[in-house]
Amino acid sequence: MHTSQTCKTPIFEETRAQVGIHGTNDEKGHHQTFYAAGVSLHSSDTWSKKVRYLGVERAMINESLHRFVMNGDQTLTHGAFIDESEKNTSHYFLGALVITQQLYRSLAEKMTAIHEQVLRDYPKLPMDFEFHGWEFMSGKRVWRGVPIRYRVGIMNKILTAVAESGGCVHIEGIDRAKHAARKYKDEFPPREIAFNYLFERIDACLITRSLVDGERPGTRVFADEHHTKTESTSNFTDYQLYGTWGYKSSKLGLLHPEMTFMDSKTTYALQAIDCVTYIYNRVKTHKETDERAQQTKNNFWALMQPMFVGCGSHRIWP
Ligand SMILES: [Zn+2]
Repeated sequence: MHTSQTCKTPIFEETRAQVGIHGTNDEKGHHQTFYAAGVSLHSSDTWSKKVRYLGVERAMINESLHRFVMNGDQTLTHGAFIDESEKNTSHYFLGALVITQQLYRSLAEKMTAIHEQVLRDYPKLPMDFEFHGWEFMSGKRVWRGVPIRYRVGIMNKILTAVAESGGCVHIEGIDRAKHAARKYKDEFPPREIAFNYLFERIDACLITRSLVDGERPGTRVFADEHHTKTESTSNFTDYQLYGTWGYKSSKLGLLHPEMTFMDSKTTYALQAIDCVTYIYNRVKTHKETDERAQQTKNNFWALMQPMFVGCGSHRIWP
């Protein structure tokens, strides 16, 4: 039987930085630590020194993640990073970024550069900030005080990095009202439907990619662990169980039968897919009243198009 759990230590404290330690129990019950690294920061260190440390730290994390994906199973050629976005109670979206190990590394480097640029431009931001689509674009929390024009420019860079990453994006959306109106005999919650469809898409995606690359692919699915912690009634564990049922079937044989939960703070690909899924949600469900806002959104949407070329996909169901 597969068991899986993650644990971590605090990432940043006042005068000390400690990179998180994640572990997972494999089927034999061995505890595999897939990264553990620490960098000490003292309050007397200069700010530029801290930023350099941060860069080193991120590089170590990404290197370790890379090694984890690689060493966990030599047949796993890809990583699939998933995140969700909701529109009130009307829609539910689940997005996946499917990317090879090599390309993941260069995407992480690009995201690191964007992160460091923002820190240089706004030195008062907490160094371990995350790019979360909703928070970032609505200027909430740490982004209060960072002008919208600047944030739009950064979002352009993030979307461009994903679009040029060589990975592809699959988004499954559920129109809750339409779904409810159809009154299916066996009603599944929108999330479960989205997960099921998305897993099928990822599986098909890997087959398409193997035809191009000529090797048999496999992927591990990474999700943001915070969702399990903040949502009490319906959480990812359900989908892990549901998913296990799904991808144990021969149809979804290219997905590793265990979802891996990561802290999005240390996983740029999760931040990237969060931004992409959020913008998709805005494009599809929100009518802008301000013309400039609409123009900005049109630009985002245009930047996103390469993500869906080839085997990428997006749709809203039913
Ligand atoms: Zn694909």
